[in-house]
Amino acid sequence: MDPTQRAQLIARDKNNVWHPYTQMSLYQKGADPLLIVSANGARLREADGRSILDGNSSWWTSLLGHNHPRLVEALTHQARQLCHTSLGGVTHQPAIEFAESFAAVCPPGLGHIFFSDNGSTAVEAALKMAIQFWHQQPQQKPHKHEFLALRSAFHGETMGATALCDVGAFQAPFAAARRPATRVTSPADDLGRALDELEKQLRTRADHIAALIVEPLIQGAGGMKMYEPSYLLEARRLTEKYDVLLIVDEVFTGYGRTGRFWACDHAGISPDILCAAKGLSGGVLPFAATATSDRVFESFLGDRSRAFMYGHTFCGNPLGAAVGREVLKIYEDEHILEGTQERSRLIAASVERLAQLPNVHNARSLGMCGAVDLGSDGDYLSEIGWRVYERALASGAYLRPLGNVVYVAPPLNIPLPDLEELLCILEASVHEVLAG
Ligand SMILES: *Cc1c(COP(=O)(O)O)cnc(C)c1O
Repeated sequence: MDPTQRAQLIARDKNNVWHPYTQMSLYQKGADPLLIVSANGARLREADGRSILDGNSSWWTSLLGHNHPRLVEALTHQARQLCHTSLGGVTHQPAIEFAESFAAVCPPGLGHIFFSDNGSTAVEAALKMAIQFWHQQPQQKPHKHEFLALRSAFHGETMGATALCDVGAFQAPFAAARRPATRVTSPADDLGRALDELEKQLRTRADHIAALIVEPLIQGAGGMKMYEPSYLLEARRLTEKYDVLLIVDEVFTGYGRTGRFWACDHAGISPDILCAAKGLSGGVLPFAATATSDRVFESFLGDRSRAFMYGHTFCGNPLGAAVGREVLKIYEDEHILEGTQERSRLIAASVERLAQLPNVHNARSLGMCGAVDLGSDGDYLSEIGWRVYERALASGAYLRPLGNVVYVAPPLNIPLPDLEELLCILEASVHEVLAG
């Protein structure tokens, strides 16, 4: 694209597009955003011709790489047949086949698939299911409508989901309007205390608690905080013991990010409700699923008043379902999980090298995600991560930080030379920024 056209488009963007998580006054005066015109594999193409490595799979979604030809084909093929119909008294082959194949990859026992549009709505549906589940128990448990959530949790942006989040910068303006939730210590901070607190809450307040919700093994937006599978095992045991539902939010961790299909698989547990989005549609379009056990599903059977009175206009959208179904076939045909093993080792080794530097803390990795904390400032709005971002971008990699947390979460099938280059840029950028 010629430079004048590029500049004009960016000026028009600044006039009318309100960007998420962005101080628009700084944005309007600041450096040009990236103007992306196309993408392929792990690379984004800037309008000025630059090829940029996508270090976070475009907000954790393009797990099979951008514009996977089979996904583009599945989308266009479906678009020629049927772009949309409601699921109100209507069904279609893509929804049926996707639900079937999704249930088949879910942890055992999760056979009922409720569709929505994105991670927040997948969580929102789970929360409402949990509340209604207790509401209609034959023995009536009128007070079981509260949630337990972890410190540093992120579960989305809708009002219900945001109530369970604990990432200050996202929440401050809404604090007064939020539904209260009980926050317990995260196992990423202190495993022993996390289990003690969880046990105490469940022992003393199970009559009030509908569900515990966790991001399994990696708390993503809260700063790529990682913890042991043993917490999940214990959380499953304790929630069963005290009869509280367990909701597992696999929106970020699912679809192989951690090296297993689900993060839950590392602990061998099945939750009562599982939420998935992001990688579920391979980053092609918004689509999400909430999967439940027979026990949860069956509590909704009976007269009309027990129906799950929830839905979104586009739930089960044929395009999303057709792409979701193809995504799962690609995981199988292209041995995506197997392919993450060698890549995960490269990420782990890179993070270990960074750990040797002064002012690098908590170097950690799991599967296709590696992260470090820089400096001593744990604030989400901290600047140091952005300096690494600028430096990495100048070298051709997009490494948007989470405050002072710098991380990589590339597509699971990123070509090895691209991964090596990405890690090289990561290390060099951190080095340089810390050297001042
Ligand atoms: C991103 C994310 C969400 C929200 O998903 P959206 O599609 O952005 O609404 C929910 N939970 C987790 C764990 C996430 O990472």
